[in-house]
Amino acid sequence: MEKNVGCKNGMWKGDNVGYYALHIWINKHKPKPGLCEECKQKPPYDCANISGQYKRDVNDFKWLCRSCHMKSDNRLEILRQANIGSKHSAEHIEKVRAYHLGKIRSKETRKNISLKTKGLKKTKEHIENLRLSHLGKKPSLETLEKMRLSQQKRRELEQRLSI
Ligand SMILES: [Zn+2]
Repeated sequence: MEKNVGCKNGMWKGDNVGYYALHIWINKHKPKPGLCEECKQKPPYDCANISGQYKRDVNDFKWLCRSCHMKSDNRLEILRQANIGSKHSAEHIEKVRAYHLGKIRSKETRKNISLKTKGLKKTKEHIENLRLSHLGKKPSLETLEKMRLSQQKRRELEQRLSI
Protein backbone atom coordinates (compact mmCIF):
# COMPACT_ATOMS: atom_id res chain seq x y z
CA MET A 1 0.00 0.00 0.00
CA GLU A 2 1.34 3.36 -0.96
CA LYS A 3 1.38 6.00 1.72
CA ASN A 4 0.53 9.55 0.97
CA VAL A 5 3.68 11.25 2.12
CA GLY A 6 6.02 13.63 0.40
CA CYS A 7 4.78 16.31 -1.94
CA LYS A 8 1.42 14.58 -2.09
CA ASN A 9 1.14 14.33 1.66
CA GLY A 10 -2.27 14.54 3.26
CA MET A 11 -0.93 17.25 5.50
CA TRP A 12 -1.62 19.61 2.68
CA LYS A 13 -5.26 18.72 2.60
CA GLY A 14 -7.48 21.58 3.64
CA ASP A 15 -4.83 23.99 2.48
CA ASN A 16 -4.98 23.44 -1.25
CA VAL A 17 -3.76 26.92 -2.05
CA GLY A 18 -0.73 26.24 0.08
CA TYR A 19 -0.33 22.81 -1.44
CA TYR A 20 -0.43 23.94 -5.05
CA ALA A 21 1.61 27.03 -4.36
CA LEU A 22 4.27 24.96 -2.70
CA HIS A 23 4.12 22.29 -5.39
CA ILE A 24 4.60 24.88 -8.10
CA TRP A 25 7.24 26.52 -6.02
CA ILE A 26 9.18 23.29 -5.45
CA ASN A 27 9.02 22.32 -9.14
CA LYS A 28 10.24 25.76 -10.08
CA HIS A 29 13.02 25.99 -7.52
CA LYS A 30 13.95 22.35 -7.35
CA PRO A 31 13.77 20.88 -10.82
CA LYS A 32 13.47 17.14 -11.11
CA PRO A 33 16.97 15.70 -11.35
CA GLY A 34 17.95 12.78 -13.53
CA LEU A 35 18.55 10.51 -10.58
CA CYS A 36 17.27 10.01 -7.05
CA GLU A 37 19.01 12.40 -4.70
CA GLU A 38 19.35 9.71 -2.07
CA CYS A 39 20.74 6.66 -3.82
CA LYS A 40 21.68 8.40 -7.08
CA GLN A 41 20.93 5.16 -8.89
CA LYS A 42 17.30 5.27 -9.95
CA PRO A 43 15.24 7.99 -11.59
CA PRO A 44 13.28 10.07 -9.05
CA TYR A 45 9.68 9.12 -8.39
CA ASP A 46 8.51 12.12 -6.41
CA CYS A 47 9.83 14.96 -4.33
CA ALA A 48 9.68 14.14 -0.66
CA ASN A 49 9.57 16.48 2.24
CA ILE A 50 12.38 15.87 4.68
CA SER A 51 11.28 17.58 7.88
CA GLY A 52 7.57 16.85 7.52
CA GLN A 53 6.96 20.54 8.08
CA TYR A 54 6.83 21.53 4.41
CA LYS A 55 9.07 24.50 4.74
CA ARG A 56 9.46 26.77 1.77
CA ASP A 57 13.02 25.64 1.61
CA VAL A 58 14.49 23.66 -1.26
CA ASN A 59 16.70 21.89 1.26
CA ASP A 60 13.57 20.54 2.92
CA PHE A 61 12.70 18.60 -0.24
CA LYS A 62 14.38 15.77 -2.04
CA TRP A 63 13.64 14.10 -5.32
CA LEU A 64 13.57 10.44 -4.44
CA CYS A 65 13.11 7.18 -6.27
CA ARG A 66 10.27 4.94 -5.23
CA SER A 67 12.24 2.84 -2.78
CA CYS A 68 13.97 5.83 -1.18
CA HIS A 69 10.64 7.58 -1.00
CA MET A 70 9.15 4.58 0.77
CA LYS A 71 12.00 4.65 3.29
CA SER A 72 11.42 8.37 3.74
CA ASP A 73 7.71 7.74 4.18
CA ASN A 74 8.37 5.23 6.91
CA ARG A 75 10.68 7.65 8.67
CA LEU A 76 8.10 10.43 8.40
CA GLU A 77 5.36 8.14 9.57
CA ILE A 78 7.37 7.19 12.66
CA LEU A 79 8.11 10.87 13.23
CA ARG A 80 4.46 11.80 12.80
CA GLN A 81 3.24 9.07 15.13
CA ALA A 82 5.87 10.02 17.69
CA ASN A 83 4.59 13.60 17.56
CA ILE A 84 0.99 12.48 17.90
CA GLY A 85 2.00 10.16 20.72
CA SER A 86 3.77 12.89 22.65
CA LYS A 87 0.96 15.34 22.02
CA HIS A 88 -1.58 12.86 23.29
CA SER A 89 0.39 11.52 26.20
CA ALA A 90 0.19 14.67 28.33
CA GLU A 91 -3.50 14.99 27.59
CA HIS A 92 -3.99 11.27 27.99
CA ILE A 93 -2.16 11.15 31.32
CA GLU A 94 -4.35 13.99 32.57
CA LYS A 95 -7.48 12.21 31.39
CA VAL A 96 -6.41 8.95 32.99
CA ARG A 97 -5.53 10.77 36.19
CA ALA A 98 -8.89 12.56 36.25
CA TYR A 99 -10.67 9.33 35.44
CA HIS A 100 -8.99 7.47 38.26
CA LEU A 101 -9.59 10.27 40.71
CA GLY A 102 -13.23 10.23 39.74
CA LYS A 103 -13.34 6.48 40.05
CA ILE A 104 -11.78 6.51 43.51
CA ARG A 105 -14.21 9.21 44.60
CA SER A 106 -17.19 7.35 43.25
CA LYS A 107 -16.02 4.13 44.92
CA GLU A 108 -15.76 5.95 48.24
CA THR A 109 -19.10 7.57 47.64
CA ARG A 110 -20.69 4.26 46.87
CA LYS A 111 -19.18 2.80 50.04
CA ASN A 112 -20.47 5.70 52.11
CA ILE A 113 -23.89 5.39 50.58
CA SER A 114 -24.03 1.67 51.23
CA LEU A 115 -22.87 2.17 54.83
CA LYS A 116 -25.49 4.82 55.35
CA THR A 117 -28.16 2.66 53.81
CA LYS A 118 -27.27 -0.52 55.69
CA GLY A 119 -29.40 -0.96 58.80
CA LEU A 120 -30.80 2.50 58.41
CA LYS A 121 -33.50 1.69 55.97
CA LYS A 122 -36.11 3.76 57.68
CA THR A 123 -34.45 6.88 58.91
CA LYS A 124 -36.55 9.97 59.45
CA GLU A 125 -34.95 11.37 56.32
CA HIS A 126 -36.02 8.33 54.35
CA ILE A 127 -39.57 8.54 55.62
CA GLU A 128 -39.65 12.22 54.81
CA ASN A 129 -38.38 11.48 51.33
CA LEU A 130 -41.06 8.89 50.87
CA ARG A 131 -43.65 11.34 52.10
CA LEU A 132 -42.42 13.98 49.68
CA SER A 133 -42.35 11.52 46.83
CA HIS A 134 -45.95 10.64 47.57
CA LEU A 135 -47.06 14.25 47.60
CA GLY A 136 -49.59 14.94 44.94
CA LYS A 137 -50.72 11.36 45.05
CA LYS A 138 -53.89 10.42 46.80
CA PRO A 139 -52.74 9.19 50.18
CA SER A 140 -53.92 5.84 51.40
CA LEU A 141 -55.99 5.55 54.55
CA GLU A 142 -52.94 4.19 56.33
CA THR A 143 -50.92 7.20 55.23
CA LEU A 144 -53.68 9.57 56.24
CA GLU A 145 -53.74 7.94 59.65
CA LYS A 146 -49.94 8.29 59.92
CA MET A 147 -50.15 11.87 58.84
CA ARG A 148 -52.91 12.54 61.31
CA LEU A 149 -50.85 10.98 64.10
CA SER A 150 -47.73 12.90 63.17
CA GLN A 151 -49.70 16.14 63.04
CA GLN A 152 -51.14 15.31 66.43
CA LYS A 153 -47.64 14.64 67.77
CA ARG A 154 -46.41 17.89 66.34
CA ARG A 155 -49.30 19.77 67.87
CA GLU A 156 -48.63 18.13 71.22
CA LEU A 157 -44.98 19.05 70.93
CA GLU A 158 -45.82 22.61 69.98
CA GLN A 159 -48.16 22.87 72.92
CA ARG A 160 -45.51 21.54 75.27
CA LEU A 161 -42.94 23.94 73.91
CA SER A 162 -45.23 26.93 74.22
CA ILE A 163 -45.91 26.26 77.88
ZN1 LIG B 1 16.70 6.32 -4.38
